[in-house]
Amino acid sequence: MNNIQSVSDAYLCSNCGACKAICPEDAIHFKTSSLGRMYAEVNDSCIECKVCIKVCPSIDSHNLQTVFSDRYIGEIKTAYIGKATDFKIYKEAQSGGACTATLIYLFEHNLIDAAIVCRMKTANHPVVEAYVAESANQLLESQKSKYTVVEILSALKQTATKRSVAVVGLPCHIEGVESLIRQSKKFKNVKYKLGLICDRSLGETLEDVVMSYTNEKEPGIIEWRKKDFSADGKYYPYKTAPIRIKYNSGKNIVLPNIYRFALKEMFTSPRCRVCYDKLNTFSDIVFGDPWGMSDVDWNKGESLVFTRTSLGDKLMSDMISSGTVSMKTADIEELLKGQHVNERRRSVSVYASALNSLPLPKTDSYLYKQNDVSDISDNEKLSAINNLKGFLDNENLSKEELIGKARMIIEENMKRQKFNNLFVIRILRKIKRLIKP
Ligand SMILES: Cc1cc2nc3c(=O)[nH]c(=O)nc-3n(C[C@H](O)[C@H](O)[C@H](O)COP(=O)(O)OP(=O)(O)OC[C@H]3O[C@@H](n4cnc5c(N)ncnc54)[C@H](O)[C@@H]3O)c2cc1C
Ligand code: SF4
Ligand code: SF4
Ligand code: SF4
Repeated sequence: MNNIQSVSDAYLCSNCGACKAICPEDAIHFKTSSLGRMYAEVNDSCIECKVCIKVCPSIDSHNLQTVFSDRYIGEIKTAYIGKATDFKIYKEAQSGGACTATLIYLFEHNLIDAAIVCRMKTANHPVVEAYVAESANQLLESQKSKYTVVEILSALKQTATKRSVAVVGLPCHIEGVESLIRQSKKFKNVKYKLGLICDRSLGETLEDVVMSYTNEKEPGIIEWRKKDFSADGKYYPYKTAPIRIKYNSGKNIVLPNIYRFALKEMFTSPRCRVCYDKLNTFSDIVFGDPWGMSDVDWNKGESLVFTRTSLGDKLMSDMISSGTVSMKTADIEELLKGQHVNERRRSVSVYASALNSLPLPKTDSYLYKQNDVSDISDNEKLSAINNLKGFLDNENLSKEELIGKARMIIEENMKRQKFNNLFVIRILRKIKRLIKP
């Protein structure tokens, strides 16, 4: 194995961008597949120095997965639920805006001079791009989660001369940053690692599916969760917030959130299926949604925040003291339950075993050797094999075929949702729950 090409050939590239950030020959670019997953590709200028292999989180040469006694949980110092106190940030945030409020605090206190974030950009269809913000006022356009892939770490090429950099990233991005820092002095200026919880990212073609429901010629921007206090005269609560496509002309198209939820399984890659690090163990501070937790404002939305390092812990305390965020402490056990950590252990083990038995090119990676639960049934494994095969079959379809297939899945889901919402069905279900021993 002389470079990371075999990682992509094995469908295990997570699009983090760490290899591209460190390659001395600029020999790596990204190829987008039918489903809109990105795979790192190596060209002829590669000199086989193998540095990319050393920083790839799918290979994990630095053995990050063995650092904590429980790699699914890592170390958690303090957990909070709360929000940004600046209404402008809170209103446009994915959850409670704590992530953007933290970056703004870092800029305003001269603790960073650059932040690597991402934004939705208009093109023929909207695409996500990483960018380097150099001041607090460049951060607002980065707000909200982009559920499709983005190779954030490539942007580190632009921050070499910066004094102190913050990176916001998914767990695979933050593992990539951690490996880059351990591998080369060049990346020691990354001082703050702000992580998001991540269940999975989805292929970019999902955006084409959503756009196929509009007849607009003008390119638009997608917001995956348009929580709002009043938009177009309508109130969108956080939990059921719809998708919004917004256009420069001021026009908005609003689609129900089932357009994303119905397609999650179809667009989930093999790499995400075997990812143990949902809770972003190498971050200083982690941000997410307080799913399954009590005392949450489920109407307007709040952030789940937890600190992992002394640096992150002090930063969050300072932010609370200064009134930048308003937070109440939260229960760590409740957090782990709400994020379904034990279910993750199981599904990662099942999918690692399923991936092993598929006739695919393999790479030398720990990802195949994950066996965190021992009682995997044949049925569980078979279903995982079928899901993986389904993904690979879909990768061979054209974009038009994928859009057609996705629209059929959406239709079926909407019919099922309608049926489930029927009054009689709801009553029958309630009775069943009551008589269940
Ligand atoms: C792909 C994905 C999956 C997620 N899965 C879960 C989950 O299963 N459970 C859960 O509790 N939370 C999950 N989250 C986190 C959640 O959606 C919010 O991002 C988090 O609560 C922070 O909200 P906020 O209001 O504080 O952030 P905001 O103030 O809205 O700021 C958002 C920040 O996220 C960054 N960002 C957005 N999209 C991406 C991306 N694709 N890659 C890297 N950085 C990005 C932006 O640059 C910005 O800095 C996920 C996020 C993403 C992007
Ligand atoms: S082996 Fe070296 S030159 Fe080749 S792609 Fe990897 S980092 Fe670049
Ligand atoms: S370093 Fe990241 S982008 Fe490069 S091959 Fe590995 S997972 Fe893919
Ligand atoms: S599930 Fe893991 S590999 Fe997939 S995008 Fe999230 S952090 Fe990256």
